[in-house]
Amino acid sequence: RKTMAKSKFEYVRNFEADDTCLQNCWVVVRLDGRNFHKFADQHGFKKPNDERALQLMSKCALTVMEELNDIVIAYGQSDEYSFVFKRKSNWFKRRASKFISHVVSQFSSSFVFYWQDYFKDQALLFPPGFDGRVVLYPSNQNLRDYLSWRQADCHINNLYNTTFWALVQQGGLSNSEAEEKLKGTLAGEKNDILFLEFNINYNNEPEIYRKGTVLIWHKIEETIDKRITTPDAPEGKNVVVKRTRNKLLPFHMDVIGDKFWEEHSQILAD
Ligand code: ATP
Ligand code: ATP
Ligand code: MG
Ligand code: MG
Ligand code: MG
Ligand code: MG
Repeated sequence: RKTMAKSKFEYVRNFEADDTCLQNCWVVVRLDGRNFHKFADQHGFKKPNDERALQLMSKCALTVMEELNDIVIAYGQSDEYSFVFKRKSNWFKRRASKFISHVVSQFSSSFVFYWQDYFKDQALLFPPGFDGRVVLYPSNQNLRDYLSWRQADCHINNLYNTTFWALVQQGGLSNSEAEEKLKGTLAGEKNDILFLEFNINYNNEPEIYRKGTVLIWHKIEETIDKRITTPDAPEGKNVVVKRTRNKLLPFHMDVIGDKFWEEHSQILAD
């Protein structure tokens, strides 16, 4: 009877849409904090850049890359992170919903799990959420342009925010006065305001703020002490063993120019 019932109902499975990601394309999942403008205010984020929040975001991204398969590079800034799955990935048969949901849920649970490690005296007041989307990029140039786009966005927002908060925090302007003053200004004018009024050289601002964070895998040589037993030392002896392993490392460098891609050519190689 049970099998009868199951086959009777099972047709509903056919209502599931096929969301296989096109073969041979880079699969990019980008997530973004929901309502983080408000979330940042409610949790006392330092303006314009809260270092703790950025470190926590990158910790969550590291966890995603370690727990899930086939992610070759990630890029993060503000409340967003992008994850790039290798072109040939066949993880979950390339189903878009699996890529998105695994990335976003692993990231979200990590954000809550690791919160207190970064926000020592700030309680997490409610469960935060993140949205996610998947985008396919068929060529290496498209993928590079995607990452360039996100890094350019980081730069534009950070230059604006740095100038805005200098005007408010050091210049004594109200939020709306600062907003009014910056309306329609070009990058050069913002640089001038920072330099002439506040003696801030924007190019000396920390790279993590100006460039965001890139996470990539690195081969590292490790030497470990290992205890082994051999015929001549049946009671065991210590030996030093060399091994290579992949480790994730964060960078805050330019990904728009060619230099990064020349130095890390393995990322696009397969
Ligand atoms: P949505 O739900 O549409 O994404 P949002 O409020 O999250 O809305 P975003 O465009 O994603 O809007 O902007 C994120 C906001 O979160 C920033 O504008 C900034 O106010 C805040 N924020 C995120 N990270 C930081 C940080 N490290 N330091 C300070 N503020 C931050
Ligand atoms: P996948 O990642 O493919 O979903 P899975 O191990 O989660 O793999 P499921 O088919 O989702 O496989 O099955 C979930 C399993 O989790 C169950 O088979 C059972 O072993 C365990 N499980 C889940 N909820 C409970 C529960 N409330 N009590 C006991 N076991 C549970
Ligand atoms: Mg948004
Ligand atoms: Mg957001
Ligand atoms: Mg955002
Ligand atoms: Mg399961």
